[in-house]
Amino acid sequence: MDSFINIFNQYSWDEVKERIYSKTAADVEAALGKQSRTLDDFMALISPAAAKYLEPMAQLSQQLTQQRFGKTIQMYVPMYLSNECNNICTYCGFSLDNKVRRRTLSATEILQEAMAIKEMGYEHVLLVTGEANHTVHVPYFKNAISLLRNHFAHISMEVQPLDEEDYRELTVEGLHTVLVYQETYHREDYKKHHPKGKKSNFQYRIETPDRLGRAGVHKIGLGILIGLEDWRTDSFFTALHLNYLERTYWQTKYSISFPRLRPFSGGLEPKIEMVDRELVQLICAWRIFNQEVELSLSTREHPRFRDNVMRLGITSISAGSKTNPGGYAVEPESLEQFEIADERTPAEMARVISSIGYEPVWKDWDGALS
Ligand code: SF4
Repeated sequence: MDSFINIFNQYSWDEVKERIYSKTAADVEAALGKQSRTLDDFMALISPAAAKYLEPMAQLSQQLTQQRFGKTIQMYVPMYLSNECNNICTYCGFSLDNKVRRRTLSATEILQEAMAIKEMGYEHVLLVTGEANHTVHVPYFKNAISLLRNHFAHISMEVQPLDEEDYRELTVEGLHTVLVYQETYHREDYKKHHPKGKKSNFQYRIETPDRLGRAGVHKIGLGILIGLEDWRTDSFFTALHLNYLERTYWQTKYSISFPRLRPFSGGLEPKIEMVDRELVQLICAWRIFNQEVELSLSTREHPRFRDNVMRLGITSISAGSKTNPGGYAVEPESLEQFEIADERTPAEMARVISSIGYEPVWKDWDGALS
């Protein structure tokens, strides 16, 4: 069966990296001057040569975002259902080798959490778990979705990759969106960071968006974990992936996230540090390259940074997030997956969004109508 891996295998990481780093100011200017941009233009926009074009990039990105999305910011919040995990991932607080108490929410607890989240005003919830296939499996997800679908207009999931048939079943149950981040497209480093468990299967993971597309999931979220490898090269491969998916599963919607490695108890230091200016460059490059894709930013980022980039291209954010199972009502003190940098409540965030002339959108009408 055709999948992205066939395209991916035609590229060499080192050659792509070399091409990005050899882009010139003329390449960046050419990319900025066009109406629509190719993957080669995207390379120029994420290259070191584009760093001195941040101001025109920000202006163009803002203008393109407002044309397509208006002055709106979609609000969503994660609900961690479980921190059980059979994988070892070097960057994660839930990794199997991290000796912490594990917990999976019961049906009653899921509803308790849901009520606390509803009180904050949310209509879009993102369900998150580790990868524990014996306890947190498809029947568990089906039950969670059936419990929540009458309370939320949009249900997203960020859990272990599943089979195509599983996604089909969950979509029928009420699932709208699935986020599945490749973490890194660098095969060898991927192996290094995922030494044990099902997640170490690079091919199964990279083919997950294909299974989602074939299953007819409404929206697919892609991303890399910034800090594991060279972010420019990894971002190029994400763009290559998105390009392929948009052509192949053209009825599906897409979003991109920009998680930067955050501290957790006993955690990994980023191999490559991405500074704020570089993340602004990346966000703007994405928007200039692709006007349809949703760009999302979580509470991993600091308040000042989030407030600034909301105007430049970001279209959805989380606020008031807890990254531990039961974090909103059931057991606020359980171990979190990573530290939050923006602790503001959803109400505070909504005030900030309004104060810069934007409208916070709690209900994803598009999702509700699909
Ligand atoms: S990143 Fe996901 S799969 Fe890996 S240890 Fe954390 S929860 Fe488990």
